Amino acid sequence: MVESGIKREPCPKCGSRNVEPVDRKGEMLSAIGTTVVGFLLSLVFAPVLILVIPAGIYLIYTAYTLPPTLNCLDCRKRWRPSAAASGEG
Ligand SMILES: [Zn+2]
Repeated sequence: MVESGIKREPCPKCGSRNVEPVDRKGEMLSAIGTTVVGFLLSLVFAPVLILVIPAGIYLIYTAYTLPPTLNCLDCRKRWRPSAAASGEG
């Protein structure tokens, strides 16, 4: 996975530069965990599988394609940097 494309910008709330990109692994893990629980449920109640497959694909796809989020270590604000902004020094 390539994570180097995240551009760090100062916190829009407090102006701090003490920010870090939020790791998407947590979101991925929760999506995968939900899918696994759904699969386990389908062992007990097979029709659940009809819901689990599209829901699991959707959850994992959404978690994987989420735009990068920055987290301010000072005020705990989370925001998404504007990816469209380019060409500024
Ligand atoms: Zn802040």
